[in-house]
Amino acid sequence: MRQILLLVLLFVVGQWFVKALRRAQTQTRAGTQPGQGAQPGQGAARSANGGASGKAALPEPMVRCAECGVHAPRSESVNVGARSFCSSGHARAYDARTTAQDRPAR
Ligand SMILES: [Zn+2]
Repeated sequence: MRQILLLVLLFVVGQWFVKALRRAQTQTRAGTQPGQGAQPGQGAARSANGGASGKAALPEPMVRCAECGVHAPRSESVNVGARSFCSSGHARAYDARTTAQDRPAR
């Protein structure tokens, strides 16, 4: 009988823990504001060793969308060749535009 009580308690504590963890995550996500890349001179050298350790601590390098010019974090950007885009839709739009320019118009 005591084991069942312990199990229930464990379950409740687990639920509470998950809820608290989720709340902390959403708070961190809401707290990040655009316009934090105001450090000139550094960034290119840092991204080389950005491995699996300290993922959240490092400031993410920003890349510029070749279609609309919006700066997006590298992990969320779409890379086609040497160019970066804020979304796959813009990558396609850019590709369609450039190929249309190459082709002779009829
Ligand atoms: Zn874009």
